[in-house]
Amino acid sequence: MAVQPNLIEVTVWYRGVVEGRLARQVTNSLADAAQAEGLHVQAFDNYTDLPDRVYVPCRSYARICPEPIAEPYTYVNSNPSLVVCTDAALVKGCNVLKGIEPGSTLLVNTFRHPQVILDLIKDLPQNTRLMKVATIDAGIAHQPNTPQGGIEGSTEKASTMRTAAVLLGAISKATGIVSLDTLTNKAPAAAEAISYGYEDVHELLNPNYDPEDTASEAAEFGRRLKVDLIVPAPEPNGVQEGHITGNYRLLRPVVDQQTCTACRICWISCPDACITVAGSKAGAGASGDANAGQTDDKISVDLRYCKGCGICWDICPLQCIKPTDELEFADGMVRITYSI
Ligand code: SF4
Ligand code: SF4
Repeated sequence: MAVQPNLIEVTVWYRGVVEGRLARQVTNSLADAAQAEGLHVQAFDNYTDLPDRVYVPCRSYARICPEPIAEPYTYVNSNPSLVVCTDAALVKGCNVLKGIEPGSTLLVNTFRHPQVILDLIKDLPQNTRLMKVATIDAGIAHQPNTPQGGIEGSTEKASTMRTAAVLLGAISKATGIVSLDTLTNKAPAAAEAISYGYEDVHELLNPNYDPEDTASEAAEFGRRLKVDLIVPAPEPNGVQEGHITGNYRLLRPVVDQQTCTACRICWISCPDACITVAGSKAGAGASGDANAGQTDDKISVDLRYCKGCGICWDICPLQCIKPTDELEFADGMVRITYSI
């Protein structure tokens, strides 16, 4: 249960550094509009969400309540009832449903159908508390000029302002937290984008939603009692969960084993040491995990640690590493269990 009756917690998941402005535009504008409707509001970030790496998953928050907010100095939303994701790969890599209230809505910036999103969260126990999934093609907020590119979240280029406005319109339609009129009155220059989001959002009720379900909520509460930021000690030659970065990969490197000459240039260049050379005992590929590299291949990639930075496909002299949309693969799900 929320810490306060009638409190609406909104959590926006975004890509660190490149989308921080977008996330704040969404949370600040939502709070601003709610305040114009006479509600009590907060919009804030959190020290644990200040990234030192581009594309790392981060969160920005808003709170909206008809009564004064009882705990204004708590800088994380424990029980969001609206979760917004700036791309669909965030849904695959992170537990974006953590702590959600029964009857929650998940809104994702993607051209994909909501059913694709439902398929990505079917392993999460909290999905019985999710009432609705909504998707909207709001464009990409960051410049697609890094090796990561900007393939997910959009079929078109768009400015940060427009992306935020489209997401706000979609939020209004999917949740009714604030009205379309209030949003457009507050930002008349963005009225067209807000209305596009409102009109074009796709909504799907979650068939797994169980309004009577309190079991998963109780289990979730138990998990929240644990201190979130304690990282397990590394196992020798095993998995070090604190170094997992595979949960924020947008693009997956796929090696053409026929063309590859095993020159090892990619192996020596990978900043996460997640490329394994055939016959090598080194690297996490020796751990036997299903996500680890297959050492029969000339070159293989441990998907738990590959963050999709693009250095390997940029540097391969034979262009035999192909960046491929992570959502084209059903495997390779990486969900870290501590922190986010
Ligand atoms: S750089 Fe290219 S050719 Fe060389 S090992 Fe890596 S994938 Fe193979
Ligand atoms: S994209 Fe390539 S270089 Fe970057 S982390 Fe993955 S395997 Fe390593």
